[in-house]
Amino acid sequence: MRKTRIIASLSVAAAALLALTACNSGTPGDTTSGGNGDGGSSTPWTVATGVSVPDSPTFERIQKADKVTIGVKEDQPGLGYLDATTGKRTGFDVDIARWMAASLGYGEDKIDFRPIASANREQAIVNGDIDFYVGTYSITDKRKEQISFAGPYFITGQGLLVAKDNSTITGKDALTKDDVVCSATGSTSIQRIKDETPAQTKEYDTYSKCVQALTQNQVDAVTTDEAILLGYAAQDPDKLKTVGDVFSEERYGIGLAKGDTGLQTFFNNTLTDGHDVWQKIFDNNLGASGVKAEQPAVDAVG
Ligand code: GLU
Repeated sequence: MRKTRIIASLSVAAAALLALTACNSGTPGDTTSGGNGDGGSSTPWTVATGVSVPDSPTFERIQKADKVTIGVKEDQPGLGYLDATTGKRTGFDVDIARWMAASLGYGEDKIDFRPIASANREQAIVNGDIDFYVGTYSITDKRKEQISFAGPYFITGQGLLVAKDNSTITGKDALTKDDVVCSATGSTSIQRIKDETPAQTKEYDTYSKCVQALTQNQVDAVTTDEAILLGYAAQDPDKLKTVGDVFSEERYGIGLAKGDTGLQTFFNNTLTDGHDVWQKIFDNNLGASGVKAEQPAVDAVG
């Protein structure tokens, strides 16, 4: 009984997200327009001027380059998405990235977005290929050995996406050794399935490839954060559904160079002082999706 209610509420949420995504993609003059340097008039943030970020090697590099290079996802609707036809980037994470860039004094025309897969994030930050990363990036102790995180700016949990007509996989505990579960290489999601279930795993570099495999009946389920899965379910509500309760806590952070406490502090302050901006970004991108709406408190710097 309880399970049925969860499934029903998630499908409603998925439909709502679809409506929202469709609406966003048709909005003229949205945040990706660039040109005027503030990312468009409809953005809830403003581009700061005269910014200084004490003790930040990353900010020095950004100033020298006169642009900010941000790692993102571009195949996760609602979070980090690139519309190949219009060239517009949308999503909660992308807007958080734009907001952070604006807080440093860099508008849309000075942002270089780089798509980077889950498995390659730490290395891209360590190499200095990107200045920071915003893309469903869970704060973990293992990752903190190589990089630092600002935030968290969002909290979600791991879930399961299955074919609409699948009645056997009702949640994590229903997975058996005969099930093939797909997720992204290098994610917390794939690791948890390996550690905590008897299921077989299939890995790709992106979740959209897993979703494609699911719709072609090559795998039985896709697993990752519920916020991501709801976006895919919303794109194909006749064929896909999310099932069961979430089974982890994923705290999304902004990945940045290890030990850059100057930038970490600056972003944490921007997040903490900008709750109204956060709320608008959430409402614009995920408000109708059914995922949890509260802005979390940031972690201590270090
Ligand atoms: N949040 C999880 C992680 O950082 C899964 C989503 C992702 O791969 O980006 O591993």
